[in-house]
Amino acid sequence: MTAEQAGEALSFEVAIVGGGPAGLTAGLYAARAGRSTVLLEQTAPGGQAMTTWRVDNYPGLPRVNGAELMLRMVEQTREHDLPILTRQVTAWIPGVLHRLVTPDGDLQARALILATGAKPRRLHIPGEDTYHGRGVSYCATCDGAFFRDMPVAVIGGGNTALEEAEFLTRFASKIYLVHRREQFRADHVIQQQVLRHPKIEVLTPYVPREIRGDSAVQSLRLEPRGGGACRELPVRGVFIFVGLTPQTEFVRGLLDTDPDGYILTQPNFAASQPGVFAAGDCRANVLKQIVADRYLSEFSARG
Ligand code: NAP
Repeated sequence: MTAEQAGEALSFEVAIVGGGPAGLTAGLYAARAGRSTVLLEQTAPGGQAMTTWRVDNYPGLPRVNGAELMLRMVEQTREHDLPILTRQVTAWIPGVLHRLVTPDGDLQARALILATGAKPRRLHIPGEDTYHGRGVSYCATCDGAFFRDMPVAVIGGGNTALEEAEFLTRFASKIYLVHRREQFRADHVIQQQVLRHPKIEVLTPYVPREIRGDSAVQSLRLEPRGGGACRELPVRGVFIFVGLTPQTEFVRGLLDTDPDGYILTQPNFAASQPGVFAAGDCRANVLKQIVADRYLSEFSARG
């Protein structure tokens, strides 16, 4: 009979929650250091980068497909025998041994590394929930091919919106890039690649108000920011990339976070409970890059 079958929690020195780049890197280092380590991931390992069609800024691997990059990271952890379990952590009981509660049994560890990442933020406009999966999408890599030769809208002005808009030019007949301000937040190099694309029409400053349709999306209603008549875009797809929200529900009230729920840490990644660390996109004030996990303030200070 295993420890779990006997109702006991499996014990480790290090437990990592989240299997994106930060979690896999932590796992690689802990396993190589000879620590008994486990990584818990609620779906498949790889994180958000799995749904990115092309990563341009990963040093040493120019223009690599996101899924390919992440599968290589997973493979690398396997070479060091890092156990990766498919488990959703629903609660955490802090202590000298931190207890992680999952529907498939509890685990405990002396050190906890939270690398739970972030998920797409919702717009919260009428029609968004109704048409999710019927024209509304948060992942161009997953759903872009469904919109071959159809007009679509992409909402947002950051790196994700512009990169995904460019990806959608492979399939869609036309892409309306809708942003609520005149200035885009995306990196200069990405703006240069995307904003002049012949299939992309930039619409600014417009605020999305409603997604309309019948059995699937038929249009997106936009309101001009400075006032004036609303505009109805005839689109079959609405791709929403308006930022991220951290996946830190099970630590709320137990760890210090910023108002958005991102975990506050010391420069050495320590969170506000002993033996608990945070890494990657769930950490407050980080750059949100696959390869970098640094405080923005540190980065800015160095110019
Ligand atoms: P982001 O940089 O936070 O941009 C979100 C965009 O959505 C902003 O332009 C914002 O407008 C807009 N927005 C937010 N709420 C909105 C609302 N209610 N209605 C309409 N528009 C709204 O998010 P992201 O693009 O998902 O990127 C997340 C992080 O990952 C960033 O740090 C980004 O640099 C990083 N990232 C990096 C790469 C790369 O390096 N290749 C690729 C992807 C993502 P405002 O500009 O007006 O606030």
